Amino acid sequence: MRNIISDTLVLKTQRQGDYDKQVVLFGPGAGLIRATVYGSYRGKSRLAGSTEQFLRLKAYLYYNPVRDSWKLSDAEVLDSHRGIMGSLERILAASVGAEIVMKTDAAGGEERLYRLLLEYFHSLDDQSEVDISYFLIQFLWRYLAVSGYLPDLESCPECGRVLGPGESMVFSQDDPPFSCSDCGKGRGERRLSPGVRRYLLHTGELPWDRAVKVHLSSDAAEECRAVLSEYVQNVVEVPIHSLEGGGLAL
Ligand SMILES: [Zn+2]
Repeated sequence: MRNIISDTLVLKTQRQGDYDKQVVLFGPGAGLIRATVYGSYRGKSRLAGSTEQFLRLKAYLYYNPVRDSWKLSDAEVLDSHRGIMGSLERILAASVGAEIVMKTDAAGGEERLYRLLLEYFHSLDDQSEVDISYFLIQFLWRYLAVSGYLPDLESCPECGRVLGPGESMVFSQDDPPFSCSDCGKGRGERRLSPGVRRYLLHTGELPWDRAVKVHLSSDAAEECRAVLSEYVQNVVEVPIHSLEGGGLAL
């Protein structure tokens, strides 16, 4: 028998049978846990409202070794993140974070990944910010840092040359994924313009709340989002459906 009490985020929920709910929880110490909320769809279930997607919970988890399964026996809502549910764009953006964590088995360190995801969900919960594309961009960029795949945008990994502030880089499916325009000649499907390079280098050093306030032109923001989306999917080696399909039009 094993019991865990952990701060967790609800990444996914799914009805199971007539009355039960499967939830995917993620938290430091707990890691990724698939648990059942028994009787969640019965009228009087105490846990029905406290096990919705994107909630932050203090979760009381119980492991049943006979069934080899986890049960959520109690939960206290720490943050409802209700604002995320206010728009499809916010839901999709939050889903990107949830999907990446689930599909990578939270690779990159639970603590740091949890803090990043929490910061991201808090931002998406804030209704005063209209342009949420910068939250997604910052999440993807910081995810690369947490998972150890942050590309070097200051020098070319192929020729070693330090790039000037006015130079662009070539992004491709090859190795290295980012190189100077000389080394990447003829291979790049995409370019990372000088402005976007400088933006990423600059905002990567800032705390989250200041980083999301730095804005690009809409074309540059779209280029940045597109390159990071593609690169992150290459890194995790699996398609992230919530990043595809252009649901997050800028
Ligand atoms: Zn080079």
